[in-house]
Amino acid sequence: MSKLSVIIPAAGSGVRMGSDIPKPFLKVGGRSILEHTIAKFLEVPDLVQVIIATSEDHFLEVKAMFEGAPKNVEFKVVEGGKERQFSIYNALKEVLIQADLVAVHDAVRPFIRPELIVECCQVAAKYGGAVLGVPAKDTIKEVKGDNMISNTPDRSGLWQAQTPQVFQRELLVKAYELALKENIVGTDDASLVERIGGEVQMVEGDRENLKITYPIDFKIAKLIFEAE
Ligand code: C5P
Repeated sequence: MSKLSVIIPAAGSGVRMGSDIPKPFLKVGGRSILEHTIAKFLEVPDLVQVIIATSEDHFLEVKAMFEGAPKNVEFKVVEGGKERQFSIYNALKEVLIQADLVAVHDAVRPFIRPELIVECCQVAAKYGGAVLGVPAKDTIKEVKGDNMISNTPDRSGLWQAQTPQVFQRELLVKAYELALKENIVGTDDASLVERIGGEVQMVEGDRENLKITYPIDFKIAKLIFEAE
């Protein structure tokens, strides 16, 4: 398999969670959400590097997570940015040259199954990029500024994009550099690759890979950890 570097953005605030502690650092099942997420990636064969982007206040806490980690994996912490995209851009500058693939995975998705990471890597090695996702279960509406509905896209062609999003290293670096140069801010990594003509394939994942964002997500996460 291709060698993999993973970037884990963990520099968000706890605003939507209503917490002073940023979500990745909330504890559940005895460990922080970020530690649970890192542990899933450590199960992936051919992982060569883990890069965490976070605020300087959390550098020491993150470095302590690396103690006792496998010696064949390089760990790095970098400063996060104002937007998720800038956190990832800072991390991209540190990616090892021997990594063929780069995965980006939200710190707040600790339920990712390692088999699905591997599947995304295989698809990205073949096409250029792979995004884990699930078919949209709700009908999605487009609304104007006044909340008046302007369009209802056909649900059968709509998917919800999750992470990991995995790309061939050079393709992702090029996409990020061009986005920065052209002042484009996307809500995910694939959108930056798509806009420069890169091929990105959707890989069907599962709904357990939830993004812990709101208090209800944290309640569900606690139930899943208890059940495990
Ligand atoms: O804010 P959002 O829910 O999109 O965050 C997704 C992930 O990106 C989280 O893991 C969060 O910590 C991270 N993030 C970041 N830098 C930011 C904003 C979010 O690393 N400026």
